[in-house]
Amino acid sequence: QGVAAMALFFLLLHILQSDTAERSELDRDLRAAIREQQFVLYYQPQLNGAGRVIGAELLIRWQHPQRGLLAPGEFIDHAENTGLIIPIGQWVLEQTAAQLRRWKDDPLFGDLGLAVNISQKQFSQSSFVAEILGLIERHGIDARRLELELTETLIVHDMEDLTRKMTALVEHGVRFSLDDFGTGFSSLSHLKRLPLSKLKIDRSFICDVLTDANSETIVRTVIALGQSMGMTVIAEGVETEAQRRFLADNGCTQFQGYLLGRPMPLADFSTFVQRHNG
Ligand code: C2E
Ligand code: CA
Ligand code: CA
Ligand code: CA
Repeated sequence: QGVAAMALFFLLLHILQSDTAERSELDRDLRAAIREQQFVLYYQPQLNGAGRVIGAELLIRWQHPQRGLLAPGEFIDHAENTGLIIPIGQWVLEQTAAQLRRWKDDPLFGDLGLAVNISQKQFSQSSFVAEILGLIERHGIDARRLELELTETLIVHDMEDLTRKMTALVEHGVRFSLDDFGTGFSSLSHLKRLPLSKLKIDRSFICDVLTDANSETIVRTVIALGQSMGMTVIAEGVETEAQRRFLADNGCTQFQGYLLGRPMPLADFSTFVQRHNG
């Protein structure tokens, strides 16, 4: 029995060590990725009810030299926990502004909005507002083309700081949307106090909106709520035409999901826009 316990101990030790090794390897690689700018932004189209492209959500990918193209699920958590999300987030914003500048006076692309995911750590930085305003100024872009996606986890954190920063940016034209709406704990009074222009219904509700009565109720309620507060409601994760129709019939006006278009490289997104809006 002593031998078995000993074996178990060494097995556990081995698992712990290899887990730590894996994590430090990720850490080392991620730091190199930031230095060498190994990231790519994919564009997932957002369409209105008439099938016109109104913009895109930017989703980060990591072109890892050995492991290939990695989805955010493979590294964003680590980036958040170590603070590496700060330089990564700055890179994303810089790229976004540069793209908006390139599109600025283009008749086909000039009106598109780009939505960027902002992590809690990033938003909490005291320099956040100044950085965004500096970015807009430096690139000479129309602030209204920039949309920042926040999640509900931010809300419970520090309402005062949140409201102050959001208001300062909204005054310059920047728009905010509440991502993954319905999965967090934000109350209606919170919602009412924040200068949000859009609610994004979380994919988990859209996924079974036609098969689960609770999801259906939640989706209907969120749409009505958004409408009554003067916010645009966008559904994410729309995969079937039946889902899209249900959403549209209930007053949802914007759609994002595999049905409309998968996240894609910029060149493909340009073609996509030309095909839909041209
Ligand atoms: P999210 O903001 O909820 O992004 C939507 C995710 O759903 C994306 O996964 C997208 O590829 C996926 N998706 C879109 N449409 C569909 C659909 O119809 N069906 C299904 N099954 N999935 C769909 P992705 O690209 O893997 O991103 C995952 C998460 O990583 C994002 O969730 C976001 O929280 C985070 N993320 C992505 N890019 C960034 C970034 O630049 N900065 C930060 N801080 N987080 C990011
Ligand atoms: Ca998002
Ligand atoms: Ca989302
Ligand atoms: Ca989601």
